[in-house]
Amino acid sequence: MTHPPDKNQKISFRQSVDLMVNRAAKVLHLDAGTVQAIQTCQSVLQVRFPVRIRGKVEVFTGWRAVHSTHLLPVKGGIRYAPTVDQDEVEALAALMSYKCALVDVPFGGSKGALLIDPRKYDRDELHEITHRFTIELIQKGFLSPAGNVPAPDLGTGQREMAWMADTYKQMHPNDINHLACVTGKPVQLGGIVGRVEATGRGVQYVIQEFFRHAEDVHMAGLNSELAGQRIVIQGLGNVGYHAARFLSEEDGARIIAIIERHGVLIDERGLDIDAVYRYKLEHKSAEGFPGARFHKDSGAGLEMACDILIPAALENQITAINAGRIQAKLIVEAANGPISYDADAILRERNITVLPDIFVNAGGVTVSYFEWIRNLSHIGFGRMERRHDELRSQRHLALLEELTGAKITDAAYRGIVQGTNE
Ligand code: NAD
Repeated sequence: MTHPPDKNQKISFRQSVDLMVNRAAKVLHLDAGTVQAIQTCQSVLQVRFPVRIRGKVEVFTGWRAVHSTHLLPVKGGIRYAPTVDQDEVEALAALMSYKCALVDVPFGGSKGALLIDPRKYDRDELHEITHRFTIELIQKGFLSPAGNVPAPDLGTGQREMAWMADTYKQMHPNDINHLACVTGKPVQLGGIVGRVEATGRGVQYVIQEFFRHAEDVHMAGLNSELAGQRIVIQGLGNVGYHAARFLSEEDGARIIAIIERHGVLIDERGLDIDAVYRYKLEHKSAEGFPGARFHKDSGAGLEMACDILIPAALENQITAINAGRIQAKLIVEAANGPISYDADAILRERNITVLPDIFVNAGGVTVSYFEWIRNLSHIGFGRMERRHDELRSQRHLALLEELTGAKITDAAYRGIVQGTNE
């Protein structure tokens, strides 16, 4: 069992996760040995491999940690980041096990990372590096449809997943299930509609659900409606962008600030998320976005006055150093581990409500599960039963019209008759 460090000792990400498990284990009265067995990462692979880039050989380091094989395959993203290490990968793998258990998705937990700043390499170079990394993972038994299935994470997306699937297929041309070796692929290459936005969509659903519980909303000191809530979001990547867009466009919340690497974009009236996203893609930064202020101190963004703070970028963003200055009433952990263990204790004391990562961002792995099943079953959801469902509904409606003598409107007819599809 991990013991709390003394006051001046910095808590690592993995320690932070383990300490939170200790707290949960106390509630369940688990013995120390069992807790240790739950916390321990079963295996960690570290690989180093050379790639020739612009005429020079560069050696890359990557990891894949398997936290628990109690269910197979193990599942978890692969991140490309310039500061990642083994401790971080182990922490993230453990979070995957807990997350899958919480939402009842039958996978064990795993996570991978490559130590790289992807912005320094062009597309072809990243393709070659990903191809080499994937070969290492496959050869060592850390990537396969039945054993270990990666997905996108920080710094990776559909493109990298397609490259990995392609490498796996090249090495296993006779494996009929080759597409299921990774999830988060482009739809035309075996992916599933909705996976790209799934994690952000899940963040939105969790917040919507929270606002259905008036007592909790009142305890957090928030107004009863989600519409009009002032939200600060950190990170405008896959998770942050989709969460921010859905919450502002569909729920009427106001995204008053977006914290990015090099500063904070602020507009108290509410930012147009799609416009900011397009601007950021074009200018590589949100700085200069028309009609909004930009502050270079991104750390201060977390401490802004707001109703809801959604950290959707990195771990350890709210620590003992800044937890006392957070002004949000509700923190929604869209990233993995954005609040450290000691910060969590401070936030509790200050009565700031926290919705935890293993629940908040589980939408991604949930839809990954559907993609994996679809790849293994070799048939799209609803393809067999759709026509049958439609015919049955048509018969029911015809009978209803005959018995009542009333005519069902075209819009209602279409809404009821439409069969399930993906
Ligand atoms: P991403 O690479 O698509 O986006 C990350 C964003 O964070 C980028 O906009 C980047 O510019 C920004 N960022 C990076 N460093 C920052 C810093 N220091 N300060 C502020 N912003 C910074 O990554 P993502 O897929 O959106 O993942 C974000 C988080 O969500 C990670 O913790 C990841 O593990 C977690 N997560 C992702 C998924 C998924 O499906 N992609 C699923 C579950 C959890």
